[in-house]
Amino acid sequence: MIRLGDRGESVRRLQRGLEVAADGVFGPATEKALRALQAEAGLKVDGIYGRASWEALLKRVTRQGRLREVWPWRGLRRLTLGARTQAWVARGASYNSIQIRGDFAEALGEALGELEDAGCAVTTSGSRRALDAQVSRSRSATSMHYIGRAFDLGVATGAQDPARDAFLVAEDAQLREARRWRVFARVGDNHAAHPLVEKRRLRALSAKVRGLVEVEALVVDVTARLEQAGFVGIGARSASWAAPFQRYPGTEWWHFQTVEGLEAGRSTFGDELLTVFDLDALRGKAPWALRGEVFGEKFN
Ligand SMILES: [Zn+2]
Repeated sequence: MIRLGDRGESVRRLQRGLEVAADGVFGPATEKALRALQAEAGLKVDGIYGRASWEALLKRVTRQGRLREVWPWRGLRRLTLGARTQAWVARGASYNSIQIRGDFAEALGEALGELEDAGCAVTTSGSRRALDAQVSRSRSATSMHYIGRAFDLGVATGAQDPARDAFLVAEDAQLREARRWRVFARVGDNHAAHPLVEKRRLRALSAKVRGLVEVEALVVDVTARLEQAGFVGIGARSASWAAPFQRYPGTEWWHFQTVEGLEAGRSTFGDELLTVFDLDALRGKAPWALRGEVFGEKFN
């Protein structure tokens, strides 16, 4: 909900919609215009921008043909992965590209390119999720995968056998509290001189022994480099944290996402869907039914 005194990008979007000066500060002029919208739509006139007002604004803006003025189009961009990934693609353990929201693609592309230069095989199990993809316990209906903000490294290319995997999924003192693993890529000796490459002794997940194994290897800290590009891992579900191989799908070590520009308590899933999909494509689809969910509350 957005109200008098609030500021930020969500306020600016509302102001563009209401055609008042878009200074990002919810002042009396914004409130007056919002009250007029609420009256026109037959809503309770309280000057507070919530779910019903959001719908009314979308309707008005669509009628006026100003949808892209209010919800600017960011689209998706495809980043093609490097030659080292192709061996995993051939084995069916990876796709050969990642699709990500247009305005995040440059930073991510740079990070992936640097990882590849350092000798990493950047694998992926997917990024953009289709609007009619099936939703399940491990596939949230408000996933960042729908809105071009997330991608998964190859689920089967780490934590299996640290002697062969592309990624080492390691215990990390800093990330433990967030139930997160630190992801390293194992690289060949010929990359030892690259500035991102270091020799580390790690305790890495291994499906082979169903636990942690000590590994000493030349590695690149993938988690650190992706975080520089704004893409941060998420925590494992608690049951998966306790028993990673009994509940492997919830370990989520492979998932990275960006929350850049999202405002807790204000940005809605609908706002995000509209930046990468046409309204016609969204109507009738499961994610669109959740357009009123708010970042930091129901989607995160
Ligand atoms: Zn994911």
